[in-house]
Amino acid sequence: MKKCKCCHIEKNYSEYTKTHKGKYYNSYCKSCTNKKSRKWHLDNPEKQKQHVVNFQTNNPDKCRQTAKKWMLDKKDGYHYVYHIADTNYVGITCNPYIRKNNHTFMGRDLNKGTGFQILSRHTFRKEALQVESYLHSLGFNGGGNNNDFLKSNI
Ligand SMILES: [Zn+2]
Repeated sequence: MKKCKCCHIEKNYSEYTKTHKGKYYNSYCKSCTNKKSRKWHLDNPEKQKQHVVNFQTNNPDKCRQTAKKWMLDKKDGYHYVYHIADTNYVGITCNPYIRKNNHTFMGRDLNKGTGFQILSRHTFRKEALQVESYLHSLGFNGGGNNNDFLKSNI
């Protein structure tokens, strides 16, 4: 048993995470550690963002794998044509939810709820492509996406 320095409750060693490569136990129990880190995230949104960016920079392959797996999980088998109002952009995707987020990641000026809209849903990609190119011919932006990662996954 070990007394937590934060909540002062005696708890089993299994309630503490190890530090220093498993040599020592944390002074705070797991539940206090979680509470603290949650509070830290809320208090430091900028640092948290930087933390994520650093992680992505240092672990590009790992992040790509995770993102890929997540994307594949979210696919529902349909192809969607979507429109982004603020850039007048039209594109297609198998996964509207992820597509929306990718635009955010790729630095386009798109925040949640600023005009991402599904225009139509198709069983076949060919159909979706036809609608997309029709809309592009009407003057909507889009097409020519050179990002191989997106191309192969969306
Ligand atoms: Zn505690």
